[in-house]
Amino acid sequence: MPLRLPAAAALLLLLAGCSAAPSKSPVPAPAAAPPAPAEAAPAGTPADDNLNAVAWTQAAVEHDLIYLQTFRDAQARLLAALKNPGWDALPKDDRLAPAKGLKPAVVLDIDETVLDNSPYQARLVKSGGEYDEAAWAAWCKEERARALPGAVAFTRFAAAHGVAVIYISNRTKDLDQATLANLRKAGLPVAGPASFLGLGTFVPDCEQNGTEKGCRRQLIGRQYRVLMQFGDQLGDFLSVTANTPEARARQVAPYLDWIGTRWFVLPNPTYGSWEPALFNNDWSAPRQERRRLKIDALRNE
Ligand SMILES: [Mg+2]
Repeated sequence: MPLRLPAAAALLLLLAGCSAAPSKSPVPAPAAAPPAPAEAAPAGTPADDNLNAVAWTQAAVEHDLIYLQTFRDAQARLLAALKNPGWDALPKDDRLAPAKGLKPAVVLDIDETVLDNSPYQARLVKSGGEYDEAAWAAWCKEERARALPGAVAFTRFAAAHGVAVIYISNRTKDLDQATLANLRKAGLPVAGPASFLGLGTFVPDCEQNGTEKGCRRQLIGRQYRVLMQFGDQLGDFLSVTANTPEARARQVAPYLDWIGTRWFVLPNPTYGSWEPALFNNDWSAPRQERRRLKIDALRNE
């Protein structure tokens, strides 16, 4: 998931489609427990702009249905993709070796694609905090993120048909073991450590650019024909080289025919590179200033 990086280094890294989850604030009791008085927002806690997004993610059955329909639709298309030797889902910049004849794979992001980290976001809303790396790592190490609807059935179906299930995540290296354990606990197939490519993955002969996933896609492309990609961020599919709303739309434009056939996009209103694109990718700006720029970006018509 998430990496919400402060300012300067941020631009390049955020371009990578890294996910950012907000925080600062002590980690309260488990989300499953009934709300205790200590969890209630302290008096005077300012309204949190993420409240509706997190509430929708957790409470709206529509959220669950979107995941279910996406994974079900992908599953219905998978065997045809498998039988078509020319079918490949890597963007042209990352498909450096011919795909034909390689073993088949599907590539999935982890956070908000197959694992649900909304309890972490809920904690931030309740505490009034913003993303911070230590609290995010602590949540990951709890290994309690649930599988998102449809993800387990799809990935198991793929594995049962001889399709390698590969996860590319921007979780940091120190979270590798917890992440693999969480995936397994949630029922997701993990063939072995090689099927998980975290942020620290070394890719020979490829210049890593921040948290961009391009090198890791290229690495997969050397061994596999990629039937499908899944993610909640544009950077899960291609390398985002300019993070403005217009540039994001422009970069994905050549691939619109692949949406819903080779690329399956899932909804994440709670965080992601779409957000800093609205305030010049400047996380060092005060919260109120970032908020003002987001309001300025709203369309009236
Ligand atoms: Mg994600």
